[in-house]
Amino acid sequence: MHWRQPEIRRTKTVCTYCGVGCAFEMWTRDRHILKVQPVVDAPANGISTCIKGRFAWDFVNSDKRLTTPLVRENGAFREASWDEALDLVARRLLAIRNEHGPDSIGFIGSSKASNEEAYLTQKIARLVIGTNSVDNSSRYCQNPATKGLFRTVGYGGDAGSIRDIESAALVVLVGSNLAENHPVIASRVKAAKKLRGQKLIVADVRRHEMARRADLFLRPNSGSDTVWALAIARYIFDHGLEDREFLARHVNKVEEFRASLAPFTLDFAEEVTGIPQAQLVEAAEMIARAETVCLLWAMGVTQHSHGSDISTALSNLLLVTGNYGKPGTGGYPMRGHNNVQGASDFGCLKNMYPGYEKVEEPGNREKWAKAWGVAPEALSDHVGLDNYTMVLGAGEGKVRAMFIIGEETAVSDSHASHTQDAFRKLDFMVVQDIVMSRTAEFADVVLPAAPSVEKEGTFTNTERRIQRFYRVLEPLGDSRPDWEILTDLARRMGHDWGYTHPSQIMDEVAGIADMFAGVSYERLEGWKSLQWPVAKDGTDTPLLYTDGFHTEDGKATFHPLEWKPPEEAPDAEYDLLLDNGRLLEHFQSTNQTGPGGRIDSQVPAWFVEVGSDLAAERGIEDGTWLRVTSRRDSVEVRAVVTDRVQGRTLYMPIHHVKPGMNQLTGPHHDPDVDTPAYKETAVRIEVLPRP
Ligand code: SF4
Repeated sequence: MHWRQPEIRRTKTVCTYCGVGCAFEMWTRDRHILKVQPVVDAPANGISTCIKGRFAWDFVNSDKRLTTPLVRENGAFREASWDEALDLVARRLLAIRNEHGPDSIGFIGSSKASNEEAYLTQKIARLVIGTNSVDNSSRYCQNPATKGLFRTVGYGGDAGSIRDIESAALVVLVGSNLAENHPVIASRVKAAKKLRGQKLIVADVRRHEMARRADLFLRPNSGSDTVWALAIARYIFDHGLEDREFLARHVNKVEEFRASLAPFTLDFAEEVTGIPQAQLVEAAEMIARAETVCLLWAMGVTQHSHGSDISTALSNLLLVTGNYGKPGTGGYPMRGHNNVQGASDFGCLKNMYPGYEKVEEPGNREKWAKAWGVAPEALSDHVGLDNYTMVLGAGEGKVRAMFIIGEETAVSDSHASHTQDAFRKLDFMVVQDIVMSRTAEFADVVLPAAPSVEKEGTFTNTERRIQRFYRVLEPLGDSRPDWEILTDLARRMGHDWGYTHPSQIMDEVAGIADMFAGVSYERLEGWKSLQWPVAKDGTDTPLLYTDGFHTEDGKATFHPLEWKPPEEAPDAEYDLLLDNGRLLEHFQSTNQTGPGGRIDSQVPAWFVEVGSDLAAERGIEDGTWLRVTSRRDSVEVRAVVTDRVQGRTLYMPIHHVKPGMNQLTGPHHDPDVDTPAYKETAVRIEVLPRP
């Protein structure tokens, strides 16, 4: 018997996981994903991917997918039509706005949805509701880095491209587990080191893979990076190793900054950071004498109560040595989610319209109101709430409704039980997601969204690179792309935008936000990409600051700092520090990577890493059950004894969520940006009897 096999389709898509932005072809037959095929034309990754991009797609056809809207009735969810669900959402949000005011409603956009969908999320918040209370998950990760860049050099994005990182003479990696979180960039650094002799300095509390490969490994006390960075800056000035010509031409406040370094002696730095002075001197000499330096940082820097200051200190250090505006130089906050850069770029921020146009700057409200066809008074004139203050407001009864798209806020926020209590107090909550998440369990209406492979759009990766992705499969069941859902909802609230394709949304943004003036789907066709800012004629910017900095006078500015210790540190009662982060094989709360997915089998059990010295002291072996207790709660978890951590530091992956790491983390946060200090959690452990 013979029948025709359905055709194998090859469709370009962009990875849904980390911020590297790997693009590849997805081969499908009917709904079967046959394989992921990288191609040499992919601008960020070429023929490379990691295990997640290659294999972690089982969630697409999983029976855990939401395929129909759900409405809560008598305490339980029942299926509903799109008409019923969206009419209910429209009616309730408008009623709450009319009764309690626009700022009683908060929106959290998704770092996994497209740029166009981020734009519509903030457009609904700003134009339809009239609030600037819209945010995204960069609040939980990279906002401190962006703050540090805004303070010093002006743009909230990586200074250059992955190729600059590859070509640098020296890479400095601070608080970044690059090999597990951004594996393809890590492979570039490994190759540059092996083939070209690129030097590598790693500063981290944990001796992860890149630390083992480093020419110099610094192990600072947690949260003390500001001190070693400024002590190195002082050493460089004291020894006349600063880039004087660069400073004279391109940087403001040089003498003020230099004077502010007085307290940051090597003695002081060794005392606070625990790094021996000889290593500080070696690092200073390497950084000052390297021809080009790229400095990469991530959550080990930002998730502290003073993560903005640490990020600022790192950018200051790059300025001292003239490492901006030339190939192979610059500051690179490594963006975690595939589109966390784009979610901020396209306006899911409480204080910025798309393209980082401040809501409080004169003229911007008028400009956006005019573009959207309303009077300026229709838009809010003040900064809104962010994730942190929305949850606080919900707990206090000031925020009455929240609309959360594709984020696991209930378990990803620090002090998770507090967040969950706040959600229970809301009058109305909408969750739009691809699966029944833990956050959706608190919702009144759940809207089934389509993942990236079931829609078209653009993502922006860590190097500010905008890439198109194409529809590989039709949406499963009655699920719909987020941009369609938001367009339909806005229409039911009196705003008929009429978008029939995401390219129309991008065209609208390009016509308003200068940063994206030359972006169009035609210019992004196929494997083409653009790195913002993009001029009207389509000229993009792979390397920032070649013609000056993004400031009023075109010069960078040193930002003097004081040393501020962590808000929570080990003490007599809670004598250990709980560090935390991702594993290569999983992503966030594992809604896409497990359980049940193929790669879940690689790391099926939760664990906590215990250093061999502490393990010997407390009688802990591999597999020993421990109760880990913070000031908030306790969890029980098995130990893995390792030399990756040492002394009084433990390490716990973030992926297990019920119970999870964020039952232990606390309420303290960076006051500059409201980012939780996930990395500042003091705990104690008890060894539990064998079951
Ligand atoms: Fe590339 Fe990151 Fe996706 Fe891995 S998870 S394939 S490194 S984008």
